[in-house]
Amino acid sequence: MEMERRRHCRKCLTRDMDQKAYFENLHTYIRNLEAELKVKEQLYEERLSLCKDCDLLADGMCRACGCYVELRAVMKKNGCPYNKWLAQ
Ligand code: SF4
Repeated sequence: MEMERRRHCRKCLTRDMDQKAYFENLHTYIRNLEAELKVKEQLYEERLSLCKDCDLLADGMCRACGCYVELRAVMKKNGCPYNKWLAQ
């Protein structure tokens, strides 16, 4: 029950959240973003592939911008801070 309540907490800081629940929330958030805001799946995977080869990726986070790369890369308006992939 406690876990269920934490999973749906919208005002928790990440340090207050269960890590698994936090990442589930992140992926649910990405899935539910409006389609017109997101890049197509193929471009998303290309962007993530570049991030995976990048030395600045650490634990899913870009050390240049501080973003979770899966969230940054899914948005059309976002670009890589080092121009390894560009905004649309
Ligand atoms: S967003 Fe750019 S700098 Fe950051 S991890 Fe991805 S490729 Fe590297």
